[in-house]
Amino acid sequence: MKLFRSPNRSLHDRFVLSISVMLVPLVLLGFCSLFLLQHTSAALAKVVEGSIGEMQSVIHLQTRMLAAAMPPNDYLIDGSPAEKEAFVRLSGDLDRAFEEILAAPVGNAQERDVVRAAREEWWRTKVIALSLLATPHPVGNPDAARDMKRMDAHFYLVVGLLGKVYGIVQRETDGKLAQAHAASRGAYFLVTGIFIAGIVIVAATAFALARSILRPLRALQAEARRLGKGELSHRVELNRSDELGQLAQTFNAMAEELEKSRAALTELATHDGITGLYNHRTFYLLLADELARAVRFNRPVSLLLLDIDRFKRVNDTDGHLAGDAILKGLSGLLHRHGRAIDRVCRYGGDEIAVILPECDLEAAANVAERLRAAVEAQPFDIEAGVPVNITVSIGVASWPALANSAQALVAAADAALYAAKRSGRNRVVRYEPAPGRELNRENK
Ligand code: GH3
Ligand code: MG
Repeated sequence: MKLFRSPNRSLHDRFVLSISVMLVPLVLLGFCSLFLLQHTSAALAKVVEGSIGEMQSVIHLQTRMLAAAMPPNDYLIDGSPAEKEAFVRLSGDLDRAFEEILAAPVGNAQERDVVRAAREEWWRTKVIALSLLATPHPVGNPDAARDMKRMDAHFYLVVGLLGKVYGIVQRETDGKLAQAHAASRGAYFLVTGIFIAGIVIVAATAFALARSILRPLRALQAEARRLGKGELSHRVELNRSDELGQLAQTFNAMAEELEKSRAALTELATHDGITGLYNHRTFYLLLADELARAVRFNRPVSLLLLDIDRFKRVNDTDGHLAGDAILKGLSGLLHRHGRAIDRVCRYGGDEIAVILPECDLEAAANVAERLRAAVEAQPFDIEAGVPVNITVSIGVASWPALANSAQALVAAADAALYAAKRSGRNRVVRYEPAPGRELNRENK
């Protein structure tokens, strides 16, 4: 069973091993059954054949004995000398038959003793029969009739003795049959034992095989389910080098690839391609998050809306690639000058939004001014030609001081930006609504 538990043994080897183990009791069972069947039937056949052989010999003797009794009887009726010749011939046959049965290696000692006693009795019978056959006038002779009776009595004695052999053979046969039955019962138990052991071995092997495969398979399934639920950073832990271990490695490689692809897709979906800043859609998600946090903890949050001044001119003068380079340079600068918690997003075109958590209007205006000055002071590299100086206008709005929703905050920052543009550009304007005066972009 230890062989099955080894996590480094391949499933193929495990299957071959288990099927071989299962085949062993089957083959053993087949061989034992065949051998025992043959052995038992041969033993039974031997018993039956031996008994029949012995019985036949005795029947043969008895038949001859009865045949030998006939000539003396007939001699008493007809007095023919031919009867004496017939008796001599038949008694010779009988003597030879006795010799043969006693010389044959069959029968037990008791049988042989009985046959020997029968032969001696036959000899005595023969003496009486010969003296009877020597009587000159047997017909109607009372002495001959008396001898005849004596002879017949001896004949019957011999036949009776031979009949005893049947009983002995019968008992011997019964004993041998009992032995054969005991042997076949033993064989039955042996075959049953092998069969039960075989079933136990097959069941245990099948159980061990199933366990050795199903356990890691379930673990693999559970781990793969986590991957299926989107936990792509999860890795399947299956420390084995068999096919299941290889499958786990394949899962891990697949998860790694999916994780990379998902990261790339997330980057594409959330970031702007030119500047690498968060895109317009992500800006609103981040702003909603920040506002929710600010509402919950009653903390301020501010928004800067920044627009490059006269950017069209840059594009017209130095080309759109130069314009792209400046957008990238500006993004880098905003990142460098911002805090880690600030969120810099490309709102669209040459407009950039900066979310400033934990900043009230005053602090946000200071940040905006610092950024504006930094942009003004830095010449931006373009692909070809001399570095270009730009300026930016920035509108500042804050929550909860001036706006009570994401849309209102963006609108307020936009209004302030518009005011900055209108009042000469390259400046920072805070959103400060005058009573009764609506700031509206359409008025730009
Ligand atoms: P103002 O000071 O009023 O903002 O003038 P402006 O020329 O910047 O005008 P406005 O902001 O309305 O125009 C934005 C320009 O930015 C229009 C377009 O040529 C340029 N622009 C927008 N997106 C990109 C971009 O991805 N790459 C480049 N190179 N230029 C862009
Ligand atoms: Mg502009």
